[in-house]
Amino acid sequence: MKKHQMSAAFFLVLALGVSIVTGADFLAKRKPFPIYKGPGVTEIRMLSEWFEGLSGSPGDTEVYVLDSGVPGASMLVLGGTHPNEPSSHISAVMLVENAVPAAGVLYVMPRSNTSGFTHNDPQEGAPQSFTIQTPMGARRFSYGSRATNPVHQWPDPNVYIHASSGQSLSGSETRNLNRGFPGRPNGTLTEQVCYGITQLIRDKGITISVDLHEASPEYPVVNAIVAHPRAMGLASETVLGLEMQNITIGLEPSPVNLRGLTHRELGDHTETLAILIETANPSQGRLRGRTDEALVLTGVDPWYVKAQKLGRLYVPYDESGHPLKQRVGRHVASLQEIAFGWTLNNPDKPLEFSGLPSYDELMEKDLGSYLQPK
Ligand SMILES: [Zn+2]
Repeated sequence: MKKHQMSAAFFLVLALGVSIVTGADFLAKRKPFPIYKGPGVTEIRMLSEWFEGLSGSPGDTEVYVLDSGVPGASMLVLGGTHPNEPSSHISAVMLVENAVPAAGVLYVMPRSNTSGFTHNDPQEGAPQSFTIQTPMGARRFSYGSRATNPVHQWPDPNVYIHASSGQSLSGSETRNLNRGFPGRPNGTLTEQVCYGITQLIRDKGITISVDLHEASPEYPVVNAIVAHPRAMGLASETVLGLEMQNITIGLEPSPVNLRGLTHRELGDHTETLAILIETANPSQGRLRGRTDEALVLTGVDPWYVKAQKLGRLYVPYDESGHPLKQRVGRHVASLQEIAFGWTLNNPDKPLEFSGLPSYDELMEKDLGSYLQPK
């Protein structure tokens, strides 16, 4: 064999090896991370039960039902609307695995945009996954993308036109679940998932819908609750309840001209009280430095400390960062305050559940104590 043939063969074998390794990684990313059935879970249903068109599609996703059997209010919790915002789906998983309802019903969707968990955003340098240590061993979760996987929905139009309002946005927003509500049955996969969620809310007459998110520390709406006008009273009481626990949180009315978002469309198109909550996630911010699992878990980044000193951030930020545990603690405390505030004003239609840690309890323990593999 001549020298050039030998080098060609060498590079071919090398390319094959790289393809096998990266291909395995690509396929592994599509495997959903496990979620364990907690003591309060009475049923695991699929979103396609509310919109058949999702059946067998990459948009179909679990709806965990925690029914107390005692009449009362219901709350739908959406985790993973944006799979690159870890406190959102981790809080929903914590709810599924720990909450025990005493009055009313909880519906929890930890992977609202399940397709978005099967890939992550190109050129962002985000890790594929992150590991939470628990007393029973390590547990891995996907660090996904803000949007539906282009393998499942492609191509993007140049301009995305929100169906029910006609508002136009950049083409990539066509795969953003939080721009597709109330959704439509004959739309894109993303719009169909939105439609399924809207149908679930209508069918079950869900009293309160809470969509969990994260935002960059330099984004104005962060560590905040955004509420539909009909949910402002409940959201205000939630803010007061959180302040009593020394959790500072802002309150924003849902802007009328921003369409397709849960806090606007679910409130306008259904009877539910629609609320969205944001925590501060440095790993999705534009000012971040090195992006790795440590940043996802610790939320510590020297560039954000610098940005804070320059007055560029909308949240306090020091060397202790914003750890995932603290962000999950904020979401879980908010959900408990929402139920508490609702029940206080509607004692004839209560919503009560236990089994979740308070913010202080979670800060004293590890996140993994409430996320143990079963
Ligand atoms: Zn988000």
